[in-house]
Amino acid sequence: MGGRTLGATWTVRDILNWTRTYFKEAGIVQPRLEAEILLAHTLSVDRLHLYLSPDRPLTPEERARFREIVKKRKQGTPLQYLVGEVQFLGLRFRLRPGALIPRPETEEMVMRALRLLPRDQDTACLDLGTGSGVIGICLAKYLPRVMITAVDTSTEALEIAQENADLNQVSDRITFLESDWFERVEGVFDLIVSNPPYVAREELSHLPSEVRNHEPRVALDGGKGGVEAISRIAGGVREHMRRGGTLLLEIGDGQGQPVSEMLERVGLVDVRVERDLSEKERFVIARCP
Ligand code: GLN
Repeated sequence: MGGRTLGATWTVRDILNWTRTYFKEAGIVQPRLEAEILLAHTLSVDRLHLYLSPDRPLTPEERARFREIVKKRKQGTPLQYLVGEVQFLGLRFRLRPGALIPRPETEEMVMRALRLLPRDQDTACLDLGTGSGVIGICLAKYLPRVMITAVDTSTEALEIAQENADLNQVSDRITFLESDWFERVEGVFDLIVSNPPYVAREELSHLPSEVRNHEPRVALDGGKGGVEAISRIAGGVREHMRRGGTLLLEIGDGQGQPVSEMLERVGLVDVRVERDLSEKERFVIARCP
């Protein structure tokens, strides 16, 4: 890497300092943190280990691998895809570009879902558009008696989700199904939960390039006004929800009113919009009469 003669020894400390500066110049918001995360990943150690052995030299092979990763990060590949792993509500999940990177807002949604289902009863929950599986898997992990059906239209996403169910040891309570929303879904559920694509097609081009160029479009593109996928969900909800069951959706800011109207039109009741921690309209909850 820059400025040193070939064969000079590079230690963990040298590499971190160099990479921090390089990332900072590239406009990466947390340059030191990302440098540490990527180096720890390359060396298969945790971050603490880097602090404990700052003088550890890197082998040429480690340096070469790290250089590749740093290059990709600088070119805009999201950190989570490079590391291939994320934390979500305290659990570990594998991640690849075939599934959306879980957002903190979705953690907030799962917290709500956990309050909507009783812990001590057998319940059935449908996770529509499961992606990497974080929603359904967290529910299965934290609610010992829930049975989950997790649906996605992408085979690639379903493969990742299945790996994550195995990793978190809940595969026995999750059924994965390749389906375009309700198309192949059977049965009725106590809770239907979804983080559908809800970015308005007109606004896709305004997304940050890291999102736009690296995350799956199918997980973001909500069609005209961002509510086309939600409209498909609304259309199937009555048929697949138990009486008294609940629908919980993640939505975009400003979609509270159109989505509420859509849900009332299909006969759901007690429709309410809730805001996330940054005070944006983010969740809609409705009940089946
Ligand atoms: N919150 C995501 C974003 O703005 C959108 C996720 C979605 O469409 N479900 O990048």
